Amino acid sequence: MKVVFQDAFWAPRVRLMAEEVIPHQWKALNDQIPDAEPSHAVENFRIAAGEVRGTFHGMVFQDSDVAKWLEAACYSLQYAPNPELERLIDEVVDLLGRAQREDGYLNTYYTIAAPDRRWKDMSYSHELYCAGHLIEAAVAHHEATGKTNFLSIVRKYADLIRREIGPNPGQKRIYDGHEEIELALVKLYRATGDESYLQLAKYFVDERGRQPCFFLDEPGFAGGPKDRWFDLDYFQTHAPVREQRTAEGHAVRAMYLYAAMADLARMTDDGSLKETLFRLWDNVTQKRMYITGGIGSQEHGERFTVDYDLPNDTAYAETCAAIGLVLWASRMFRLDPDAKYADVLERALYNGVLSGISLDGKRYFYVNPLEVHPPTALFRHDLRHVKTERVPWFGCACCPPNIARLIASLNRYVCTVENGNVYYHLYAGCRSEWEVNGRSVRLTMETDYPWDGRIAVTVECAEPVSLNLYFRRPGWADEAGVAVNGEPVDARGALLKGYIRLAREWRSGDRIELNFPMRVKKMAAHPLVRENAGKVALQRGPLVYCLEEADNGANLADIRLSAEPQFQTEFRRDLMGGIVVIRADGYRSDPEAWGDALYGEYSGRLGKTAVTFVPYAWWGNREPGEMTVWARQLELG
Ligand code: ZN
Repeated sequence: MKVVFQDAFWAPRVRLMAEEVIPHQWKALNDQIPDAEPSHAVENFRIAAGEVRGTFHGMVFQDSDVAKWLEAACYSLQYAPNPELERLIDEVVDLLGRAQREDGYLNTYYTIAAPDRRWKDMSYSHELYCAGHLIEAAVAHHEATGKTNFLSIVRKYADLIRREIGPNPGQKRIYDGHEEIELALVKLYRATGDESYLQLAKYFVDERGRQPCFFLDEPGFAGGPKDRWFDLDYFQTHAPVREQRTAEGHAVRAMYLYAAMADLARMTDDGSLKETLFRLWDNVTQKRMYITGGIGSQEHGERFTVDYDLPNDTAYAETCAAIGLVLWASRMFRLDPDAKYADVLERALYNGVLSGISLDGKRYFYVNPLEVHPPTALFRHDLRHVKTERVPWFGCACCPPNIARLIASLNRYVCTVENGNVYYHLYAGCRSEWEVNGRSVRLTMETDYPWDGRIAVTVECAEPVSLNLYFRRPGWADEAGVAVNGEPVDARGALLKGYIRLAREWRSGDRIELNFPMRVKKMAAHPLVRENAGKVALQRGPLVYCLEEADNGANLADIRLSAEPQFQTEFRRDLMGGIVVIRADGYRSDPEAWGDALYGEYSGRLGKTAVTFVPYAWWGNREPGEMTVWARQLELG
């Protein structure tokens, strides 16, 4: 399976990763960006290797920034040869090898700062989390370059882990407070064929939540949790995973755990794990997810709270959590081929993930609220996590390299081959090539997605090939037009769990046309989402829209959309790299007419105003200012 973007949307973004973002992030990891928070992440490896003198700096999981950067850099090699980057990757891999201990252990914090604490602070140490990211990077390196040196380094480390940790006598019966190694070990199993890695992943998942939890005996707990938001549920260890019914705790951790559970449920055909995942999926996507695909609504604990608690201004919605949702959704599809998973994947990708990175790729949001009022956000204690503008780097920099590795590997999410059937989940101008039933087929997709829902697909194959092609009918689409070689197809009749199934003998030159008209939709939230009562959000195709001060002036909270607005859309080539804007009629009050009184009797007097919406993920790419996704609307009189 090989997919190469050739469109005006993803191709430039993927190129930006390779040419700008990955070099920029390398500078950030080496503290070469003025005014950015320092990283020290690469220096930590040099110190651990004994090549320079110094002390460890950064978060205990600082190593994972280097690992994610390596993974992103390796993915970017697949698009175009880049000898300079490959040489740099080689140097970093060699450095990792030199920083590795004799027994295979590889973690700079515990090597430099706390050598006697190895495997002793599992609730907060992130040791296996960092190991997991190194493993993912090594697998990507092996795939991209064919080299085995990095894979050998992480195998030596994974072999140490499986010797020392596990359920057998003499082993430490532990797991990590931050999940990640579980899904990484599944990748390592796939890359090496060594089943013991899959067994170790299964051990970590099965062991999680067994009571009494060993975290309670660790210094991190010191007899009890830090507070109620950092109790065992924060780590998804409050109950065995198969007994968990709602998504709890730190959102990124939860996503990485669920992603690994989905891998294992499929690979080991584990029915109880599947049932758990279906339940958790419904809980997250029907009760605990923002319309942007953001998750984790509370800053304290970066975590899930309770059903329908989705505040807009204090939202956390970490970029990594939306990325985690993409990772989980893509794996859920493989358990249960239903379009609802790719619908959520698409929602998270085009909104809550893309909002995390500026158009030039060099500034980032960690937190992705749905409403920002800068003067308030810059002062208020309960909004201190909110940045009103994207920043060049973070002291805790999990998000920037995470988004880089996702976008650099996005071609893997476009389509999949399952049991001889080919599924297209995402739409983008691209060329895809895959082998099915021993035949090689190429599909070229042309589209202006996400601005336009028309997609033309051309088939190329050396000889006719019989197979089922499945195209996702996006959940947002009210209608679907489908034609093969100009002949209309009954899209409703061909629909199977949200995918349009086209089964026939395909010949070179066959042409498929799909049309999912993109109407501007006025979206409402479930009535129990108190924050959005009386408000609407606009969505067009996969994109959720927002109001920005740059287009609408200040005090966006006062703007009311007409009860039945007429929407006008326009593709503005000149605006933020080219976007479709939505215009509508609205109303707002007149502060001058109101006067100075803080309160006065309600008059209902409002003036007409024109309002302009831009896609949410693009907000904050102009001058700083207010933003809101949910807008009030006038009641139907
Ligand atoms: Zn993050």
